[in-house]
Amino acid sequence: MTDFQLTSPDDPVQSEELTARIVTDLALDQFLSYTIPDTLVPEIRVGRRVCVYVRNDLRKGYVMAMEPRSSLNYTGKLRPIHSICVEEPEIPENLIRLGQWMANYYCCAQESAIRTLLPGAVRSGKNKARKEIFYLPGDPEKTTLFFEKEAKRKKAQATVLQCIIDHKSGVSRKHLLDQFPTATTHVKKLVESGVIMTEERLVEVTEMSLPTLIPSVPLDLNEEQFLALEKLKKMMDIRFVNPTDSSPHTLLLHGVTGSGKTEVYLQAIDYAIQQGKEAIVLVPEIALTPQTVLRFESRFGRQVSVLHSALSDKERYKEWNKINDGKVKIAIGARSVLFAPFQHLGLIIVDEEHEGTYKQAEAPRYHARDVAVVRGLKEGAVVILGSATPSMESYYNATQGRYALATLSKRILDYPLPEIQIIDMRLVNADNGPSLFSQKLVDAMWERLNNREQTILFLNRRGYARHLHCDNCGYDATCSSCSVTYTYHKSREMLMCHFCGETMPAPLVCPSCHDKNIRYSGSGTEKIELSLAKLFPHARIVRMDSDTMTKAEDYDKTLTLFQAGEIDILLGTQMIAKGLDFPRVTLVGILNADLSLMMPDFRAEERTFQLLTQVAGRAGRGELHGDVFIQTRIPHNPAIRHAVNHDFLGFYEDEEPLRRDLEYPPFVRMIAIYFRGIEDSDVRECAALFYAQISNYLDPGASVTEPMPAPIERIQGKFRYLLVVKGEVLNHVRQAIRHEVCHGHYLSSVDIFADVDPVAIL
Ligand code: ADP
Ligand code: ZN
Repeated sequence: MTDFQLTSPDDPVQSEELTARIVTDLALDQFLSYTIPDTLVPEIRVGRRVCVYVRNDLRKGYVMAMEPRSSLNYTGKLRPIHSICVEEPEIPENLIRLGQWMANYYCCAQESAIRTLLPGAVRSGKNKARKEIFYLPGDPEKTTLFFEKEAKRKKAQATVLQCIIDHKSGVSRKHLLDQFPTATTHVKKLVESGVIMTEERLVEVTEMSLPTLIPSVPLDLNEEQFLALEKLKKMMDIRFVNPTDSSPHTLLLHGVTGSGKTEVYLQAIDYAIQQGKEAIVLVPEIALTPQTVLRFESRFGRQVSVLHSALSDKERYKEWNKINDGKVKIAIGARSVLFAPFQHLGLIIVDEEHEGTYKQAEAPRYHARDVAVVRGLKEGAVVILGSATPSMESYYNATQGRYALATLSKRILDYPLPEIQIIDMRLVNADNGPSLFSQKLVDAMWERLNNREQTILFLNRRGYARHLHCDNCGYDATCSSCSVTYTYHKSREMLMCHFCGETMPAPLVCPSCHDKNIRYSGSGTEKIELSLAKLFPHARIVRMDSDTMTKAEDYDKTLTLFQAGEIDILLGTQMIAKGLDFPRVTLVGILNADLSLMMPDFRAEERTFQLLTQVAGRAGRGELHGDVFIQTRIPHNPAIRHAVNHDFLGFYEDEEPLRRDLEYPPFVRMIAIYFRGIEDSDVRECAALFYAQISNYLDPGASVTEPMPAPIERIQGKFRYLLVVKGEVLNHVRQAIRHEVCHGHYLSSVDIFADVDPVAIL
């Protein structure tokens, strides 16, 4: 393993002795040492992009460290760095340190850690293209004349012109054509008459029209908000003077839904900026939280850089540079915004810190919340973890004094939390036969329709029915490349595997015994939508799940309609559980609370509690009282019971001893190691070999399971095996695992990776 010291660029080292360690774009976890030619010495520093020869190929890489020649073990000949890629951005040094830490902690290659630090467009340098841009002339006289004299006759031209006016920095031809298929003729005429101008530009323009922002001012905080902010200010004061102070630098902000956490974030950011610092705001999924984002923009205007998922590579590149050049003070976005290249970071906010989406599913498989805490520690910044339903890990850390804690126990303006009722579906079905809706829920929905109020219905399963089962021969339709059942999608008459996307036409008779009584069991959102249409023929119903929301704009459109009251019933999967704040939603129905409890996962209860509480929190956020109905067949389950009482602490106290006894996080750390390959026996053999290699390095009290098939034994035709390492301390074994993953000698046909602090074991 490489342990290297970062050398400050200013270190007075003699030039003829200086070497640089370079990590190249090859997927190698290797630092290659090169000498630095005298002419390049003034230019070389950690983080710089350089070209070097690897054998006979010229490759790009980053300087990871600089050190005197005499400190290298190697005495053979070294090649010189070929050149510096002056045009390309460097990685700020603090991020390089973070990348280094991530590679070690998450047991992955240095290269893959570095990769995540930089947006793709920044790495590849593919970001400069010319674009034809249309914009208004400096003197708007002709534009005004056009509106006065001609707009009435030339409606199409006027519409196109309006779009150009809405984009202050200009609009590209492509963007216009996307909206107005006949734009070409109109802009041509507008240009000819001098109403607009055109030019080719190298600079990037934001294609998303900026909504008109109503600037917002800080609100008067209530007492709990005030106390939370005071705590934060004190923490910042300490850090900003002494970045390595030993008091906690992370605050867990536990505030019930609608308690005004966001206002605390806003004022904390304001304070950090006043102290000359910068802030990063992480939200679970940016497309799903437009309302939250808008609140940051309204408060801070141009100081905010929003890293929407809809940004093109070029736009992302532009935002990265704005941050790198210190032109904005706040960056807001999903997971990867954590790596915004700020140099004076003062505050990191992780909103809805309990969300699983903060864990990246591909290498380096980092958890953004945890890396945020580490980045904050390294850079002397304060970290806020906010949630109505904190993760077991974070709350445990707070009880241990590792994190500070602030609580917002009431909704703003004393709006009551919604009243939650359980509907025992065993009784409902015993009376009326199997049904998706209890009469109580249906009645409540009618009431909302009559009062022009809105309903949100939640079901955590998309598709029509979960699976196809033959009662005659026991056949279950399973994906041919993954060991999971197919989901039936009625609108397309297809069976689909939600793991690999494979589809097949839905059969009419059992493919195995040809029996006609084949059944589809377990309802999904698609089926619910059809039933709803029958139950409420005049209601405006919209389904929101990953089948209907395929583009980023789809959410925006739907939420805008919902906001405007154009939708009566919004039906969706967990997509609708987050962040929505609509005062006219007075009813939330959870159709089957049990689905997420059935997952074979030690976090199933925790996740269910979080999901139910978050979904329920969408109701009654305004002056109107809110009701929530939870349909379940296991009403006494603790996750459900505590959600009904809005009782996070009760849930935590029930769950904590279980985790402790069964040795699960937060009481132990876990690392899962996966092995994947086409040949079952090869995969098994690799896992066994790996097991033998790391068994000798277990820290005291740590354990590793024998190789076992993963819960989902096959995905996309590949067999999967698993080792699980557990222990309170995993220092030695972590190093051994990383060494085996990055440098071990295993069959090349088997793919091996580690998942550190896994959020799910599949
Ligand atoms: P949370 O993030 O905890 O769910 P929000 O920050 O969305 O809660 O706050 C809920 C609502 O209360 C928002 O509409 C917000 O503008 C409002 N609000 C927050 N703080 C205050 C305050 N101190 N006074 C009045 N209204 C507030
Ligand atoms: Zn599949």
